[in-house]
Amino acid sequence: MTIATTPLPDGGSIPVFGLGTWMMGERADRLDAEIATLRAGLEQGVTLIDTAEMYGNGGSEKMVGQAIAGRRDGLFLVSKVLPHNASRAGTIRACEQSLRRVGTDRLDLYLLHWRGQHPLAETVAAFEDLKASGKILRWGVSNFDTDDMAELQAITDACQANQVLYNPSRRGIEHDLLPQAQKAGMPIMAYSPIEQGRLANNRTLADIAARHQASPAQIALAWVLRQPGVVAIPKTSRPDRVAENVQALDIRLTQADLDAIDTAFPPPTRPQPLDMI
Ligand code: NDP
Repeated sequence: MTIATTPLPDGGSIPVFGLGTWMMGERADRLDAEIATLRAGLEQGVTLIDTAEMYGNGGSEKMVGQAIAGRRDGLFLVSKVLPHNASRAGTIRACEQSLRRVGTDRLDLYLLHWRGQHPLAETVAAFEDLKASGKILRWGVSNFDTDDMAELQAITDACQANQVLYNPSRRGIEHDLLPQAQKAGMPIMAYSPIEQGRLANNRTLADIAARHQASPAQIALAWVLRQPGVVAIPKTSRPDRVAENVQALDIRLTQADLDAIDTAFPPPTRPQPLDMI
């Protein structure tokens, strides 16, 4: 399948669907299945993979490196620097270590995982150094609320994405963060789009799924993906579920489906602090 992309502020683009890898690369006995899962995703046409130095203490990045060995070109690799590493020198060091673990010379997108104690301007300066040396193609942030984004935008307009928690049961960003990002042409990467698997058991989503010969997880993904400028990065360690999740891209929810989700999971009516997992 050819997966649609959404524009980035820098004129590039990012696929609207990718593979999450949190809690992968942590156990030797699961490694083969995890690598097989990512490869199944690549076979399905998935090119975006989301990892982080935090995941499995580098184990996830190494697992990604094994899965993509020999097929780096054409992929869109995302990794993240931990806030406590995000000083000017620390960010560069962390990125170089990530590159070594993944076995590549560049990341397509490098994110600050969440706000920490280092001044944003230092992290931004390091990101720009990394961009200038070709080690990253662009950078962004994660878990940034509207006030964090305002602070960042006072420093620079070079941020390319904000990765935040978003799914039918976590709709707070619809009040302001999401519309602001859409207005700025900056993609929102929706993490935990299946609420870490919990939405796969949701009754409302199951009812809608039955109408589409689909699964509740697919309905959660189709819902996240229903709007422009949003990228979903579900995680699975099961090859069969990769195909299921990718196929959510073909599901078009009806107005009745959307209304049922609004009833079960009401949209926000006032600003809410950003949820995090
Ligand atoms: P998800 O919402 O993607 O859910 C993952 C869970 O759902 C796993 O337990 C998986 O089990 C299960 N699952 C996946 N597909 C299906 C399916 N079709 N039917 C039923 N169950 C399914 O949660 P994550 O928290 O993993 O979020 C996705 C990714 O987002 C992460 O892996 C990570 O890359 C990123 N992330 C980023 C954060 C940040 O702070 N920036 C925070 C959290 C996540 P199984 O593996 O057995 O299939």
